[in-house]
Amino acid sequence: MEYRLIFKDYSKALKQNRLLGLKCNDCGTVTCPPMMVCRECTGTNHEIFQLSGTGKIVTFTTSYIAPEGRENEVPYTIVLVELDEGPWIMGNLVDMDNRNVTMDVMGERVRLSSRVYPGDKYSAGDAARPGFSFVK
Ligand SMILES: [Zn+2]
Repeated sequence: MEYRLIFKDYSKALKQNRLLGLKCNDCGTVTCPPMMVCRECTGTNHEIFQLSGTGKIVTFTTSYIAPEGRENEVPYTIVLVELDEGPWIMGNLVDMDNRNVTMDVMGERVRLSSRVYPGDKYSAGDAARPGFSFVK
């Protein structure tokens, strides 16, 4: 079994603010982030699919404690987003002061606004993470 979409290519697309997943040819389900098998039917008959990058915030958490080497990023907010195509993914809430995030963000429409973060001693260099900003 081979990976249809490897992390390196997923990450490369994220750096270009494009969100890639896999669309199942058997049941039509979209899987994101990409996995070896369809998240619905566990089949492997799928193709690379570009998602819209839009969805709504399901829940969130704001962290004031940084992992080692990322002290300059706090506070930051991680959101769980239900994408319009169905998958739920996590990302950083960007383009706002995270000290002001309240429960009111739940259910808000967001769109992909990925960010590239510098590598640290635990990573292999710069990496893109899904970021989300509010749809205005
Ligand atoms: Zn499927």
